[in-house]
Amino acid sequence: MNLDTQPGHIDQIKQTNAGVVYRLIDLHGPVSRIELSRLAQLAPASITKIVREMLDAHLVQETEFQEPGSRGRPAIGLILDTLAWHYLAVRLHQGALTLTLRDLSSRALVEERLPLLDKAQQPLLTTLVDEVDAFFIRHQRRLERLMAIAITLPGLINAASGVVHRLPSYRVENMPLGDTLAQRTGLPVFVQHDISAWTLAESLFGAARGAQDVIQIVIDETVGAGVISGGQLLHKNGRALVAIGHTQIDPYGQQCYCGNHGCLETVASTGSLLALAARRLETRPESILHQQPLTLASLCLAAQQGERLARDAIAGVGEHVGRMLAMMVNLFNPQRILIGSPLNQAADVLYPAVRSTIRQQALPAYSDALELTPTEFNEPGTLGAAALIKDALYSGYLLQG
Ligand SMILES: [Zn+2]
Repeated sequence: MNLDTQPGHIDQIKQTNAGVVYRLIDLHGPVSRIELSRLAQLAPASITKIVREMLDAHLVQETEFQEPGSRGRPAIGLILDTLAWHYLAVRLHQGALTLTLRDLSSRALVEERLPLLDKAQQPLLTTLVDEVDAFFIRHQRRLERLMAIAITLPGLINAASGVVHRLPSYRVENMPLGDTLAQRTGLPVFVQHDISAWTLAESLFGAARGAQDVIQIVIDETVGAGVISGGQLLHKNGRALVAIGHTQIDPYGQQCYCGNHGCLETVASTGSLLALAARRLETRPESILHQQPLTLASLCLAAQQGERLARDAIAGVGEHVGRMLAMMVNLFNPQRILIGSPLNQAADVLYPAVRSTIRQQALPAYSDALELTPTEFNEPGTLGAAALIKDALYSGYLLQG
C-alpha cells in the first residue's frame, strides 16, 4: 500500500483522490483510465500514478473489456482486486463474539461465534485480544495479506480514540480497545458503535443505498439511531451514536439506568413494551395473549391478528418514537427513515403509528416525500464492521502508505 512515498507524512489530498478512484473502480469497473479521469475529474497523469500504486499494492487489477458502444479491439479496464487482502470483522453483541474473516468484496470466508463471558479473573480487554489472536492462529492457512480489524459493540464509544468508555453487561471503564488491538496485531483497528456501523452497512450494502440523507432508528433492548447526512455517517470520527434513547420525553416518567427520568428508552425499548403489556394483561383475563408466554414474537403476532391490547401497546411505541423522529426530520430533512427492530414483525401496526405522528408533528415540506422502510438486515452480524472497512477504503484512509 505504498501510495505515499514519504513515510510518516500523510498527504490528505492524495489520500482523498486515491479513495475517490478506488470507489469509482468499485462502482464502475471495468473502467478505462480515460473514463476514470473523466469521472474523478483528475488529470490523466494523476490517474495513471494512483492506479500504478494500486496495481503494485494488489488493490486493483487490469482486465480486457469491450467499451460500451465500441466494436473495436477490447480496451484495458480496471477492476478491484478483492482477493489479495483480508480483514477481520468483529461484533460483540448480546453476550457473544462473532469473528468473520472477509475479503475486500466483503464476502465472508470464515465465521465463528463464541460466547463471551465476563471472566472475573481477567479483564474483558485481555479476553478480546486473546480471542482475536487465537482466531488468526486457527485460520493461519487461509489468511492473505491482512489489512485491518474492525469491531462493533454497544455502549459508550469514541471512534476517534478507539476507547470503549462503557459497555452494557460488562464491567468496563475506559477500555483502550483500538490501541491495544493495534499494538498486538500491528494492524489498523476501527472501533464503532454497533448501531452506527449498522447504519453505515445499510448505506453501503442495504436499504439506504443511494440515499444521501437517512435516519436509521433501532428499537430493541436499547433505542438509538444513526444518521447519514450528505452521504456521510454523522460524527463518524467521534461518538456517532445518536443517543435519542436517552432524551427525556416525560419528566415524571420512570427512572432510567442513565440516571435521568422518562427517557425515550423507558417507554419504547422492547423490554419496556413487554413490561407494559404484562401490566395491562392483568386486567384483561379474556385476552388471547394469556394462552402462551408473553414474548415479542407472540405480542407482534397478536397485534397482526388484531388483538387490541397488543395493537395499542405497539402503536404506543410507534407514537413515542414518531415524536422523536419528527424532531429529527426537521433537523436533518432525510429522504428515508429506516427502522431496525424485532417489532418489524408487526410493521402493519408500528409503521402507521410512526408515520402519522411524524406527519402531524414535522414540517409538511420535510415529511411529505419521506420513505419509511425496514432495514434490509434484520440481523446485521459483522456487516457493520465490514462497512467500516469499506468506508475507510472509500475515504482513502486504508490506501495510504
Ligand atoms: Zn436514560
